[in-house]
Amino acid sequence: MFLLSLALAAAPMNLKPLEAELVKQHGEAQRARVSRGLAQVAALWRKEDGELAPFVRAFFIADEATLTATLARFEAHLEQLDGHLLEIGRAWRTPQELEVGPLLPVDPVFAAYEPAAHLSDDLFTNKLAFVALLNFPLTTLDERLAAKGWSRADWAAARLTGRFARRVPATVQQEITNAQTAADLYIAQYNLWMHHVLAEDGRRLFPAGKRLISHWNLRDELKAGYADAEGLARQRTIVRVMERIVTQQIPAAVIDNPRLDWNPFTNVVTVAPPETVEPDAPARAAKPDGRPEPDVRYARLLANFHAQKKADPFSPAAPTAIERAFAVGAEMPEARVKALLEEVLSSPLVPRVAALMEQRLERKLEPADLWFNGFLARGPIPEAALDARVRAKYPTAGAFARDLPRILTALDFSPARATYLSERIVVDASRGAGHAMPAARRGDFPHLRTRVEKEGMDYKGFNIAVHELGHNVEQVFSLYDVDRTLLAGVPNTAFTEAIAFVFQAKDLELLGFPKPGAEAERLRVLNDFWQTWEIAAVALVDLEVWHWLYAHPKATPAQLKKAVVETASRIWNRYCAGVLGGRDTPLLGIYSHMVSYPLYLFNYPLGHLIAFQLEAQVAQRGQVGPEVERFSKFGLVTPDAWMMNATGAPVSAAPLLRATEAALAR
Ligand SMILES: [Zn+2]
Repeated sequence: MFLLSLALAAAPMNLKPLEAELVKQHGEAQRARVSRGLAQVAALWRKEDGELAPFVRAFFIADEATLTATLARFEAHLEQLDGHLLEIGRAWRTPQELEVGPLLPVDPVFAAYEPAAHLSDDLFTNKLAFVALLNFPLTTLDERLAAKGWSRADWAAARLTGRFARRVPATVQQEITNAQTAADLYIAQYNLWMHHVLAEDGRRLFPAGKRLISHWNLRDELKAGYADAEGLARQRTIVRVMERIVTQQIPAAVIDNPRLDWNPFTNVVTVAPPETVEPDAPARAAKPDGRPEPDVRYARLLANFHAQKKADPFSPAAPTAIERAFAVGAEMPEARVKALLEEVLSSPLVPRVAALMEQRLERKLEPADLWFNGFLARGPIPEAALDARVRAKYPTAGAFARDLPRILTALDFSPARATYLSERIVVDASRGAGHAMPAARRGDFPHLRTRVEKEGMDYKGFNIAVHELGHNVEQVFSLYDVDRTLLAGVPNTAFTEAIAFVFQAKDLELLGFPKPGAEAERLRVLNDFWQTWEIAAVALVDLEVWHWLYAHPKATPAQLKKAVVETASRIWNRYCAGVLGGRDTPLLGIYSHMVSYPLYLFNYPLGHLIAFQLEAQVAQRGQVGPEVERFSKFGLVTPDAWMMNATGAPVSAAPLLRATEAALAR
């Protein structure tokens, strides 16, 4: 009903005569299908698509057998289309991505080409998208969540139409891409030369040449501060820097400028003494200009919002960016995700973990301890010993590939299943870091990209390769062993990451070292709990800011800044100030993703919860391989339905909280 009224509002098309005609032809029993199909088509039909009536007369299917056969035809043909386009893209990027000899000048041009870029447009233009929308229901998230009695064919049909839920015009899509690219570039160039960022007392705390990008490098530098005596002063300085970035009080002239000194406490800018300027410093103005950055951070975020908003009318089933992030992206209602985040944030375990942190640090906690990583002990085996063992075992990517059957049987797969998987995972020597690339049609195989240095694979490379192998194993099962290819895959990235983490945690055992002891496991749980708590708070800020944007679509960058600062402080005061102090700090607004990749952050805490839930299930069964196979081949249903099959419960914070409780009790 909702869809129908929306369609009529969008296009002044009277569908009643057409509905009556089709019902007369196909019978009263078809009325609901006719009405829904017509509304779904009309909502996305454009003038240039021609006359609606002849199309509908020709393609409405009432016969059950023809309908079933049509769904199967779409399934088989889309598998071929998606699978082959993916292969073309992969082949064209191969010279750039793999160690296959010197690059030609033309290679980047091949690599930049995306064969599927116009696919969705093409399928609307040739009407295949409309045939799907006319005959199969385009479901809302609520309908999918309530889908108790759905058959696998019902799920397949929902995935087919879901693919055509939006028809965003190329010009609007281009604006979204442009806004995103501009925000990415802004973040990518947001560096600070730390030798020129002064402490509260004016000292230089950071070595020459250290150039850190906001916010990831700043945060990692802050984490590194737990390892040494000057750490606390550095951490306090970085927190001041972050606050000045969020409030945009940072002087514009000091961004990426090693020729100016800046004291973030007093906000005073001075010319850097020549002997402190790095020899390779880029040319920059050396005038002590203290004018603040003119709210560029918020102008970029606002541009992302305006671009996303233009896509709203073309996405009738999820007509805001927020709804698309949850209904289409996560497939969990926002209220449910928020409740999970708040359950972690307000857990009574938080002050208990904080007390343990104070004990370890021998001081009261401060805002910087939002990023506390002092639970992570150094492993008992020195990195050099690990590197030596891995290098001897894997001088080449080929050596790793040949060892896959052994690795997989060590992960509890039967020899037959280990062989099956090894034959379906292609190992490539990558130029970049590790990466797992799925396949999209049966007959093609997932690829495991791993970087092997001249002297052989090192431990870090092995650790990543085992993580990627987890992805690849999931990718094989969720393509080859799922019953329908329209249901290939897992509900969202958090699920495949969780499976990859289950593998990664076994890396030392796979090298023949003893598995980590109980104390290491206990500290790992506490560390994960704290990370989840931290990123849950950040994710809440992101969400609230987007609600504010939709409520204030005409906001200026300055007004948006005020709203972000206010929101970040409020959430800090509610959840963090009690254990970390620093009342009213806007620190939670520092994440770069908020600007360049908005409405994604909530996936991180969700990922931690899902990982704990799957780990608990695997631990309870005492075997990795068969459980991962059982999870993965269930395919692309909603997260809760998937998790019910995997663990007997919907997505939940309970396993993380239980593990944390147990870690505290020891
Ligand atoms: Zn991963």
